[in-house]
Amino acid sequence: MRKNLCMNKLRASMVILLLILWNLLILSGCSKNNTASISTVNPFPVQEDSASASSHSGTKPVESGVSTPKASEVILPEKAEYSEQQIKAPAGRESVTSAVYKLKNTKLKKKKIAYLTFDDGPSRNNTLKNLDTLKKYGIKATFFVLPQKDVDDVYRRILEEGHAIGNHSYFHDYHQLYNLTDFEFMEDVLMAKNFIKEKFNYTTTLYRFPGGTMGRSKKLLESRNKILESEGYTVYDWDISDGDSDTSEMGSKVEVLVNNVLQGAWGRNSLIVLMHDSPAKTATTEALPKIIDGLVKRGFSFDLLTNKIKNDTDDEG
Ligand SMILES: [Zn+2]
Repeated sequence: MRKNLCMNKLRASMVILLLILWNLLILSGCSKNNTASISTVNPFPVQEDSASASSHSGTKPVESGVSTPKASEVILPEKAEYSEQQIKAPAGRESVTSAVYKLKNTKLKKKKIAYLTFDDGPSRNNTLKNLDTLKKYGIKATFFVLPQKDVDDVYRRILEEGHAIGNHSYFHDYHQLYNLTDFEFMEDVLMAKNFIKEKFNYTTTLYRFPGGTMGRSKKLLESRNKILESEGYTVYDWDISDGDSDTSEMGSKVEVLVNNVLQGAWGRNSLIVLMHDSPAKTATTEALPKIIDGLVKRGFSFDLLTNKIKNDTDDEG
């Protein structure tokens, strides 16, 4: 009986001893393993001060007597650059961080497009120089032309170099055009269309109202748009102007024209830029390379207007 009691005490002592040893083993071994796993999981070691390092990893306690910097003194890495990078994806799964970065990059890399348009040309003095500039930059643009005399070679060059030609009416008479009957309006559209078709075998499918649609009667535009649609046209206004139609001194200052476009482009993903290439618009011709340079710096690429992109030009920014 007494012998059994002693054996039981001995067993109990052994169990307690084993438990103590086991706990010691866990405490020492696991903390080392944790440290090792954190340092290998983090693939992007970030230069940190001691305070931020200890608060993130938990491996280096703040030493007593060392004052913890105030929040304003600690430059913490951005959340996305630090905490998410420590999330290790299971085998075969994409890590959270790279997925987030992919989304961010997709958003950042969303194509920014500027559609350069020139109205009221072509002219020998300006359009040819503008074509040279566009060629130099490898950019395509859209020319809303009028039936001009003695510049057939300029129309041809526009088309041969891959730009688009749009219909900008035949008579370009602001006062008359919006007072025409529907039939007369259609005549004007078709005369302009045929002028290009017969001379250059090119069918225009883009239309820009002289002076744009802004401020026109809704009813009038509805009936005009029906006519244009029946002829296969897509109507384009603009959403930025370089301001060269300003008849004051400002409309002929190169720097003003450049700034008008570049300031208007802030926060935008898509632009339709109105400029003119009629004989008097020499300031725009001079401004064009600077406008293009500025837009390129803002990440814009350039394209032609077509019948398909009408709904994509709305700005998202
Ligand atoms: Zn015009």
